[in-house]
Amino acid sequence: MIKVIPHRGMRQIGGVCTEVATDEARILFDFGSPLEDEGDQNPLSIEGITKGEVDCDAIFLTHYHGDHVGEIPSIKAGIPVYMQKTARKLLLAQQQHMQCHGQEVWADSARNLEYGVPVIIKDLKITPIESDHSAIDSLMFLIEGHGKRILITGDYRMHGYHAERMEKTFREMGHIDLMITEGTNLTNDYKGFYKNEKDVENRFKELKQKYKYVFLFTSSSNIDRISAFSRQVPYGQYVITDDYQKRILKIADEEREDKYKSHKVLYYSDYLKDKMENCGFGMVVRTGEKFCQIVKNYFDEYPDDTILIYSMWSGYRTLPGVKKILDIAKNQETIHVSGHITSEDLEKVVKTVKPVKLMIHHTSVEEKFGEIITLPKNVKSLFLLDGESIVLGKNESVDIIV
Ligand SMILES: [Zn+2]
Ligand SMILES: [Zn+2]
Repeated sequence: MIKVIPHRGMRQIGGVCTEVATDEARILFDFGSPLEDEGDQNPLSIEGITKGEVDCDAIFLTHYHGDHVGEIPSIKAGIPVYMQKTARKLLLAQQQHMQCHGQEVWADSARNLEYGVPVIIKDLKITPIESDHSAIDSLMFLIEGHGKRILITGDYRMHGYHAERMEKTFREMGHIDLMITEGTNLTNDYKGFYKNEKDVENRFKELKQKYKYVFLFTSSSNIDRISAFSRQVPYGQYVITDDYQKRILKIADEEREDKYKSHKVLYYSDYLKDKMENCGFGMVVRTGEKFCQIVKNYFDEYPDDTILIYSMWSGYRTLPGVKKILDIAKNQETIHVSGHITSEDLEKVVKTVKPVKLMIHHTSVEEKFGEIITLPKNVKSLFLLDGESIVLGKNESVDIIV
C-alpha cells in the first residue's frame, strides 16, 4: 500500500509539502515556506524530518520558488534533496546572492535530476517530467509502486511557451490512480488582458518599437519572461541588467533551445551610460535604491521616450519596495500572464488525465472543489485537511470523499 499525507497546502497556496510513503520508503515532495500573511505560518514540524531521529529517504523539489523550497534549511542533516539540474544551479546562484541577507546556501549539496530519468528509492520509482511554469525547468513527478501511479503536478500552466508539450504529456500520461494538482487560480483567478506568454512577448515588441528607453520590472527568476523581453530589443540597442541577473540568464541559457535564449545581455556600468542614452535600451530592474535612481533619471530627462513595464502579479504592487519604483515611473503599463493554470484549463487537464482520484492543493479554496469547477463524474475528488492521509492499495481507504 501507498500512503499519501499532505502536510501543508490543502487550504493555502504557499508552503506545500506532500508525503508519499510505503512500509519501506518515506519520501516528501516540496518543503516550502508559506506566503507572507497567507494561511498557517508555523514552520513545518515533522517527526523524522525536522526533529527526532532521521526517518526520510529523500525530498524531491518541483521548482525553485520559495513556497516550494523555503523550509529546506530546517530539515535534519543526511536527508538527500533532489532537484532538476539547471533549476538547482539557478537556486544556488540566488542563495549565494542573498547570503549576505542571511539566506542559507544549501543548493550546492542537492542532487541532480534529469528529465525522464527515474530515481528508484526502495519500492518507489520517481520519474521527473518537464513542466512549464514561471520558474524554468520546473518538474512534475510520476510516482510508481505497488501497482499504483501517482502524479504530482507542482506549479504549472497550459499557456506558457510549452503548451503543446504539456498537452502531449497529459495525453500520454497513462492510467493515474491519484493526481495531486495545484489550484492557485481556482480562487485567485487570473483575469488579465493577455492570454499567454506569446501575447506578452508581442506587446513587449510593440512597446520597444515605440519607446527608446524601456524598463521591465519583473522577478529575477522569471527567465522566460526576461529572455522574451531581451529578444525584443532591436540590434544596435542594449539589453541591460545587473551582474546578478546576467549570471542567472547565463546559467539558464546554457541548457536551452536557441529560440528561447536571451539576446546578448550587458550589465549596467558607468562605462555604458552614454551608449545606453544614445542608442536606447531595454533594462530589467528590481526593487532597490540603485534601480530607482536609474529609472528616476530617465523619467526626469526623457519623459516622452521612457516607459516601465510592470510584469508581475498585481498583488505585489503594494509592497513598499515595489510601490517606490512604480511611483517614480510616470508612464507604465502592466503586461503579465499568470504562472499558474487557469481553472478552465484545470478542468480540461483533469478530463484528459482522468485520474481515479483527484486532490487539489496549493489553493485557498474553502468549499468543495465540485462546487467551483466541473469535474468528470468518475473522478473522485478528495477534500482533505493538512495532516490527514489517504491510502492507495489493497484495503483502499479514503477518509474523505466529496
Ligand atoms: Zn511556483
Ligand atoms: Zn507555488
